[in-house]
Amino acid sequence: MGPGGLPLHRSSDREFPESGLDPAAGHPLPSAPHFFDADDHVPRRAPGEPPIGRMTHDDSLMDKLVSLCKRRGYVFQSSEIYGGTGSVWDYGPLGVELKRNVKDAWWNAMVRARDDIEGLDAAILMHPRVWEASGHVEGFTDPLIECRNCHRRFRADQEDVQEGQCPSCGKRGTFTEPRQFNLMFKTFMGPVEDEAATVYLRPETAQGIFVNFQNVLTTSRQRIPFGIAQIGKAFRNEITPGNFIFRTREFEQMEMQFFVEPGTDEEWMEHWKEQRMAWVRSLGIRAEKLRFHEHGPDELAHYAKSAFDIEYELPFGWQEFEGIHNRTDFDLRRHQEYSGKKLEYVDPVDRDKRYIPYVIETSAGADRTALIVLADAYREDEVEGERRVVLSLHPKLAPIKLAVFPLVKKDGLPELAARLHGDLRERGIPSFYDDSGSIGKRYRRQDEAGTPFCATIDGQTNEDGTVTIRDRDTLAQERVAIEGVVEWVVTRVV
Ligand code: ATP
Repeated sequence: MGPGGLPLHRSSDREFPESGLDPAAGHPLPSAPHFFDADDHVPRRAPGEPPIGRMTHDDSLMDKLVSLCKRRGYVFQSSEIYGGTGSVWDYGPLGVELKRNVKDAWWNAMVRARDDIEGLDAAILMHPRVWEASGHVEGFTDPLIECRNCHRRFRADQEDVQEGQCPSCGKRGTFTEPRQFNLMFKTFMGPVEDEAATVYLRPETAQGIFVNFQNVLTTSRQRIPFGIAQIGKAFRNEITPGNFIFRTREFEQMEMQFFVEPGTDEEWMEHWKEQRMAWVRSLGIRAEKLRFHEHGPDELAHYAKSAFDIEYELPFGWQEFEGIHNRTDFDLRRHQEYSGKKLEYVDPVDRDKRYIPYVIETSAGADRTALIVLADAYREDEVEGERRVVLSLHPKLAPIKLAVFPLVKKDGLPELAARLHGDLRERGIPSFYDDSGSIGKRYRRQDEAGTPFCATIDGQTNEDGTVTIRDRDTLAQERVAIEGVVEWVVTRVV
């Protein structure tokens, strides 16, 4: 809630129960699903198209996803060997690539492809007055209650505690009075741990942009309308984190503040709604799983004139993973007031025209985006009576673009395969060399990892210099000259 009891940036307080996946809750990770050997000839799902064929999107999807993420090295519990840390996760070798690809896709669309947006990388630790000006010290709170019987803590505005019954031990009438709990993590700057040295881990990246508004404006020679974008860590001491990487205490945001002349803000709001939905679709996410949710008057943050969430239907319901907000001139006005520095924009043509710009913000979570990408890509095919698990990731997001297999470990095939693997790496294309197990098993491993293409070097390679490239989604196979494989892949993975 923001100052005066109004919601602050926590635009959505609709909650859902934890899935039981939180390691802090002491639940073991589900065991790996069994999967079977090679199959063939399933219909094609082109990148960006809805999956076809037999699919599983049931309640156990989250369990399967968590299990697959651990098994294949996407996401691990933080500090697992010590029993895990509550709702903090580490990205493994494949996960770090996936998340980096999500962030790169965002940066390319929001910064590199546009003349009117500049990038920024502001520090996590900021002057404590920033958080007074933004309203976070006073108002970035959730109502916290505790069950006197089992001592579990909950958010008082959560649906499952509204009836006064503890969702953990089942007792009634045992809740304490709600008290406002500030979600910002505190720490100390310098060697003395006193009130004067208190600083916060930023709960959003946006404020780093607002305080640099004048710096970027003067150094980049931009004119309004223009935007500033950044990707970075944010921290919130969430009372009820959970649902894997959906709600965590440490996460990454991809935020852009677009500064516009007051009066043009509604047009820009429409522009950014449309742009952001198009970007999400460009990741291959199915349209029927996406929708806008407009904030009603009771959900709107105190500074916001209007706000829309982009929501995805996860197994635990429709959930926000990006917000598009009209923040008006609230933030710049407050920083001007608290810092004493003028944050006005002076029109370079008509110098009498001065105003504090309005801001249209697009605010997405990199981790939540990674989660919806994974959830949307997970499927199980059944082909000729056999089952396989596939991550049908868009090739531009897939951690490994091509896997290279020598059919056998003789006749010079490993050498040819190793050379191709090396050529791909040299071009910066993540490739994976695998010579162990049957070809079917090697395909299965790559299907689960989300690798869109596999190249097999076989006897025919020695005769005519071609390799077989197999498509993860169609299982179609095509022969491509080994010399042309790098270009063949490059054109398909961007
Ligand atoms: P929620 O209602 O889910 O708590 P919010 O409305 O507080 O989210 P914003 O403050 O608008 O979220 O943050 C923008 C984006 O940052 C969210 O859409 C989400 O993708 C991401 N985000 C916010 N909080 C978390 C969190 N605890 N864990 C992971 N991502 C988060």
